[in-house]
Amino acid sequence: MTARVASIEPPRQTVYTEAMEVFQRASDLIGLDRRVRMELEEPDYEHIFYVTVKLHTRLTPLPASEQPRYKDLPDSELLPDGLEPLLDGSFVFKRRALINANVFMRDGVVRLKGKGLYKVVPGRPERFKAYRVQHNQARGPYKGGTRFHQDVSLDLFKVLAAEMTWKTAIADVPFGGGKGGIKVDPKTLSSEELEALTLRYMYRLKPLIGPNLDIPAPDVGTDGTIMGLLLRQFTDGERERHSLRGVVTGKDTRIGGSEGRVRATGQGLAYCIQEWYADRGSVPAGSRFVLQGFGNVGSNAAEILSGMGSKLLAVNDAGGTIFNPNGIDVPDLVSYVYDNPSNMRRTVAGYPKAQQISKNDLWEVDADILIPAALGGEITGPVAERLKVKLVAEGANGPTTPEGDRVLAKRGIELIPDIIGNAGGVTVSYYEWIQNKRMEHWSETEVNGRLEQAIKSNYRIIRDISRNTPRRTATHNSQRYCIGREVEMRTAAMVLALKRIEAHYQLEGFSQ
Ligand code: NAD
Repeated sequence: MTARVASIEPPRQTVYTEAMEVFQRASDLIGLDRRVRMELEEPDYEHIFYVTVKLHTRLTPLPASEQPRYKDLPDSELLPDGLEPLLDGSFVFKRRALINANVFMRDGVVRLKGKGLYKVVPGRPERFKAYRVQHNQARGPYKGGTRFHQDVSLDLFKVLAAEMTWKTAIADVPFGGGKGGIKVDPKTLSSEELEALTLRYMYRLKPLIGPNLDIPAPDVGTDGTIMGLLLRQFTDGERERHSLRGVVTGKDTRIGGSEGRVRATGQGLAYCIQEWYADRGSVPAGSRFVLQGFGNVGSNAAEILSGMGSKLLAVNDAGGTIFNPNGIDVPDLVSYVYDNPSNMRRTVAGYPKAQQISKNDLWEVDADILIPAALGGEITGPVAERLKVKLVAEGANGPTTPEGDRVLAKRGIELIPDIIGNAGGVTVSYYEWIQNKRMEHWSETEVNGRLEQAIKSNYRIIRDISRNTPRRTATHNSQRYCIGREVEMRTAAMVLALKRIEAHYQLEGFSQ
């Protein structure tokens, strides 16, 4: 008989374990307390739940292969006001479309005048998967964004929630880390359906969150409008509802949002870039940058940097890529993307004052700075090999893969890591939360003054850790955090986060 030898399986590699590589490396470097390490290695809570909403009847474009059968179908005339166009090419059908209508339908197919053939898909309830991961609350209530996107998963939310734990520690705001959202493509929903989905999401989430427990904010696919809906659903009917305003941040300034919050992430990134130049005795004026993503973070960072005299050469977003070697006029591009009703996808594609190039070519544009401000995992090893920039300043969360990091380091391309690069958003979220608690409203000058001081002093601490130059100046003190050897910036940022979190466990102890 042969003896069975138990095989020791290596731990399963996931986006989460991959993202935690920096945490593991920094923990080893500083000899992080074993029990603290275990507390941080996995989230406190992983919530998965389901949200159902009723979808309205839709008219979806008929596939080309079925169109010949209906070539003799006459035009139907429906009240245009009763058809809500969606970004996926369908229309949501509202009953008022039938007022004074002339409808010719065969097998549920209609021809809309000037638009083509559509299949009527009757309204039905639909189930969506929803998440909230609460990673750690050693330093304060869980804090993190709400993402509505079709490509989300529990593992991804674990990554993003852990990132928030590190980011809130680095920004030195009294919060922990969380993240959540819904697996949905918001472009396929009407405004009423999106509202229903958002309210239902909060209905399910309410027992798990609160202004002193877990505080969501906007992220990809959500904005101030969605935050307003979340606030309403959470506070409706509550006796002291105004004391609960801080349950979400990123609200409109008219309902308790902070001045400067919308621009805060781009603003924080610009402060980091300014500090990077200041450290080299220079300023961003005269530099050239390339951008991926022209949403909240990308467009605001671009506006602020161009205001500092830096030139935008190329932009890639979900719709396409544009390039102008002489520089792109950022305010003009902002108005092309955001003030143009026919640009429904809010994309830079088709911008007439630049060449249309391929996404592949973006990476090879010769510039000083690359700002990734879209989704994660874009700067892979092969992409990093092709870059012709001096600095990658991360606006997006996790845009560089671990292999990408190794290639950047090998090629001497410097890095402003996401956990400090995009910490401006959570820092101003904290200001919003304080203002809500105190029932105050600060000016944008006051917000930006505090933000600049906070971002730059934390950036300086990370830089000192990275170079192993412990210092105490009027604006920052890195003596407690340097570790006796040099490390690259991403690890340095993690060292700062872990030392700040560890202090809570060391000084407060474990209750059990
Ligand atoms: P957004 O939805 O406003 O914009 C996203 C942008 O990315 C759009 O321009 C979109 O076209 C582009 N994009 C999407 N998919 C793409 C693809 N496959 N290729 C190229 N471009 C693509 O989102 P945002 O709020 O600007 O967030 C961008 C990133 O910054 C995300 O990683 C987010 O987690 C991170 N972030 C945002 C904030 C904030 O305050 N908004 C704070 C911290 C981090």
